[in-house]
Amino acid sequence: MTVVDENICEVKSADYINMDFKGKRLTILGSTGSIGTNALEVAEKLGCTITALAAHSNVELIERQIRRFRPSLAVLFSEQAAADLKQRVRDLPVKVSTGMDGLCEAAAADTDLVLNSVVGMIGLMPTLAAINAGHNVALANKETLVAGGPVVINAAERSGVKLIPVDSEHSAIFQCLQCSPPNRAVKRLILTASGGPFFGKSEQELEFVSPKEALRHPNWKMGSKITIDSATMMNKGLEIIEARWLFDVKAENIDVVIHRESIVHSIVEFSDNSVLAQLGVPDMKIPIQYAITWPFRLECDVKPLDLTELGALSFYPPDLRTFRGIEVCRKAVATGGLYPAAVNAANEAAVALFLENKIGFMDITRLVESSLEYSLPEFGGRVEQILEVDRMVREDTIAKAKKIKR
Ligand code: NDP
Ligand code: MG
Repeated sequence: MTVVDENICEVKSADYINMDFKGKRLTILGSTGSIGTNALEVAEKLGCTITALAAHSNVELIERQIRRFRPSLAVLFSEQAAADLKQRVRDLPVKVSTGMDGLCEAAAADTDLVLNSVVGMIGLMPTLAAINAGHNVALANKETLVAGGPVVINAAERSGVKLIPVDSEHSAIFQCLQCSPPNRAVKRLILTASGGPFFGKSEQELEFVSPKEALRHPNWKMGSKITIDSATMMNKGLEIIEARWLFDVKAENIDVVIHRESIVHSIVEFSDNSVLAQLGVPDMKIPIQYAITWPFRLECDVKPLDLTELGALSFYPPDLRTFRGIEVCRKAVATGGLYPAAVNAANEAAVALFLENKIGFMDITRLVESSLEYSLPEFGGRVEQILEVDRMVREDTIAKAKKIKR
């Protein structure tokens, strides 16, 4: 499976200019989040039609979105919130659904593209529902690929649909790989990482940092889970696994470099040692819009990049001893089977506990590391096994956290 369509080089140059996205139908899962709200702004500028919207429980915001974009289906995962929403929008011709069935109903509803921007591996089943309905999927929800990479890639191959990356690093690589030869001659992928708010700090210094400090990302404004993942650098570990599946490149050929400015979004090194990178201001509207308009490019409502204003760009090796999330993910993907799902589940549970002030910052990494010690059954490729491991590891992580002395 490859996300790169070799035929796109044949698109006539005039088509790039005349392309019109008015009326392109879009479903957005996670519409109330950081990616979802940016995506709706992009979609509105492009003149797209919104088929369905889904979120967890933010009734006020999704009601405003429904009134503005008039989808025919809206989903809130929380049953109580969905009941409230039903009352609020009873004057409109919109169906309101709830729960996992609702999310999958939205993902499968007739449309041109499904953007999955929910947070967490809760996005796995809706991603599969969209793929099985034959929809191309713009994927921001990286946990889907971390927990269920082989299942998702096989399903996409079977259905003949495209997975278009939204994560900025993966969008950068995707952009660098456009029009490369069929074997793509890729030697190495280099993911850039900002280093987060704690770049240069030692383990001792990080032991007692608060959620408020960890949520202060220097360059990107994102949801709380991914912001904590950036602070622990677990985000980069998850992204190695995400890239491994999206681009069919072995994890040992995926490197990480710290790049504080977040201007170079990622890099591809080819077999002739030629290197391509994609640059731009750190604004998710660029990769979101590219995922919607691919393989075309249109004007985007972001600041142009001024290199002379920046002056210099810096690159450093990551501190793998303090920020051990990268190595944990490498081990998980090397072991394979259900281990990436276990690591992801431990991380999701640990980040939630840290945000609730129940564990310390470094405990997140320790709990995630301990998930590699499970003796997990052989993976037979069934999604139910992933869901079962996810449930078991979450429960166990919460139990382990209760024993941590603070
Ligand atoms: P946010 O926390 O800002 O938003 C999460 C969204 O998911 C909200 O709409 C939330 O709804 C919804 N959601 C959460 N749980 C459920 C559920 N059970 N059912 C339905 N909807 C649910 O996250 P981000 O937008 O920052 O991130 C979303 C995904 O994109 C993550 O996987 C992240 O790793 C990835 N990503 C994000 C980037 C960014 O810049 N933000 C960059 C690259 C990747 P509600 O508001 O109702 O709770
Ligand atoms: Mg990223």
